[in-house]
Amino acid sequence: MNVAQILKQKGNRIVSLPADARVGEAAGVLSAEGIGALLIMDRAGKVAGILSERDVVRAVANHGMEAVALPVTEVMTANVIFCKPADSIDALMTEMTQRRFRHLPVMDQGRVIGIVSIGDVVKNRIAETVAEAESLRQYIAAG
Ligand code: AMP
Repeated sequence: MNVAQILKQKGNRIVSLPADARVGEAAGVLSAEGIGALLIMDRAGKVAGILSERDVVRAVANHGMEAVALPVTEVMTANVIFCKPADSIDALMTEMTQRRFRHLPVMDQGRVIGIVSIGDVVKNRIAETVAEAESLRQYIAAG
């Protein structure tokens, strides 16, 4: 199982906000969409950063109520790490564990074609493990 197969199942929807959005708006979108992170896009349509619920929590901890009025560009992570469609689930698990984040946008030929979360990775890893166990059971039963 790789990133391309995960996207085939979950789709290519990308939730994003423009770089002039405020943190309060981003929190509203994360909550309404039931997601943990969104992409921040610049005027040219390029990825300017990624903003996760953790960034919102940090902004509130540091700025209190004033956090909601801050521009998203002040609290997002500008140095975005991407994955590729051919990357394996194991490679994503390693990347997320080592870098301590839970979201990887997917870059394909200079275009972002989706975003994979740790939830997607875990769901697919469990499905693989269940399928492996079932085929082993069948193998043993046949012998
Ligand atoms: P998360 O665990 O995804 O909620 O994110 C934890 C921190 O890592 C936040 O500061 C995010 O902005 C940042 N982050 C999340 N995903 C990425 C990514 N793919 N590239 C760079 N930073 C990220």
